[in-house]
Amino acid sequence: MLLTPRTTAARPKALRTPRLAAALIAATTSAALVAASAPSPAAPLGIGDPLFPHLGNPGYDVASYDIDFTYHGDNRKPLDAVTKIDALVTAPMERVNLDFAHGKVRSVEVNDEATRFESTGEDLVLTPSAPVGPGERLRITVRHTSDPVSAKDAQGGWVRTGDGLAMANQADAAHLVFPCNDHPSDKAEFTFRVTAPEGLTAVANGLPIGRTRHVGGATTWAYRTHHPMATELAQVSIGRSTVLHRKGPDGLPVRDVVPTKDRKVLERWLKKTPGQIEWMEQKVGRYPFETYGVLVAEARTGFELETQTLSLFERDLFTRPEYPEWYVDSIMVHELAHQWFGDSVSPRSWSDLWLNEGHATWYEALFAEEKAKRPLKDRMRQAYRQSDTWRAAGGPPAKPKGPAPGKKISIFRPVVYDGSALVLYALRQEIGHRAFDRLERQWVDLYRDGNATTADFVRLASQNAARDLGGFFDAWLYGTKTPPMPGHPDWRTAAPEGK
Ligand SMILES: [Zn+2]
Repeated sequence: MLLTPRTTAARPKALRTPRLAAALIAATTSAALVAASAPSPAAPLGIGDPLFPHLGNPGYDVASYDIDFTYHGDNRKPLDAVTKIDALVTAPMERVNLDFAHGKVRSVEVNDEATRFESTGEDLVLTPSAPVGPGERLRITVRHTSDPVSAKDAQGGWVRTGDGLAMANQADAAHLVFPCNDHPSDKAEFTFRVTAPEGLTAVANGLPIGRTRHVGGATTWAYRTHHPMATELAQVSIGRSTVLHRKGPDGLPVRDVVPTKDRKVLERWLKKTPGQIEWMEQKVGRYPFETYGVLVAEARTGFELETQTLSLFERDLFTRPEYPEWYVDSIMVHELAHQWFGDSVSPRSWSDLWLNEGHATWYEALFAEEKAKRPLKDRMRQAYRQSDTWRAAGGPPAKPKGPAPGKKISIFRPVVYDGSALVLYALRQEIGHRAFDRLERQWVDLYRDGNATTADFVRLASQNAARDLGGFFDAWLYGTKTPPMPGHPDWRTAAPEGK
């Protein structure tokens, strides 16, 4: 994610370290439910993420989601939906919790049997006819509505655009759209089938697998991902759109989805994508997915978002005159870089967010240096000056403060953007360009299609430097004060504001 500045260039982000205590408590709770002979009340569960403790659910691992949406042509009306989940049970459970908080549930089946369900907190709790155990497969079908009108205090999920809908689920809003295990540590394959009235086009993550025209003019559009994906990265666009196709490096299918009326105005930006992919491939290796493209939405989201294979951009970013060309280019590269850092290699917990945003900001800034002569060193010296202030406001990069009440995307603070790119700059200063470049390539290769933690990054960096960098990273990732910058002993931080 990247917040769109409303005046000049500036942006935020945040981070933190994984803690398992809460996960263990959650696991113990579910074991206790099984042990108790009297039925215990259904309760919302979580896997104990340090920033979002109630997100995700213990006891199973989702292999795939198969989601049908029927859109009725009005983006203020609920869609009809069927979400099918194929999961493997990993712990004994008498109830199965899903995250789902913003739609009406009509029926639930587990392994073809009608199943009792109730909503509590932000969970949908299912009670199968018999307890389930490790190794069993769960095939869950939920018939429900999916409401595009945000509840009070809710952020994210469906985004209502000028001509339909798009999705923005980061960090914790996929379960406002469909029932799921809403945590990036449980990645899965996705199939989407979207039925929309005549004149509208639907596009989702991955590649098309079919299109069916119905009597009366509606069409069902089907897409499937070729790689596992986190729920927060799901994208479904419905609108008066045109899909533009071009070729990227080695024939990679590049497809952009734009409001049909804007296709000519946007072309000067869209045609840059293949070159940007080529630039990123030179830096870190092969693009990790089956396709890429830009989704331009007529909406005031206030941010851009790296939804997998199809990044979401506000139309205004490309059409307002106050953004310089180099800046828009670098934002495009920011979301593209996330396809490697954040999407292919996903955070294990939300406190690993600095790995997403620090890297995306790093390549954003590096692109601006190489293509627009805007020295990275200058930007990093500036970040260094503000770093203590950012740490005071948002916590250290790998131990960020939780979201402000009612403002879940407030974890996207400066300390996880330039404040964390600064950590990568310090690392490159410390271990040298060659070891740093090698580390970056190995990172996206080793953890491709998976999850990784801050500790994994520290370990791989130490291997590449052929020495223990634990002390270096402790100070840079967990310190409330910014350590001295290797090679720039003259750099100074300003005192945190208000002190
Ligand atoms: Zn970002």
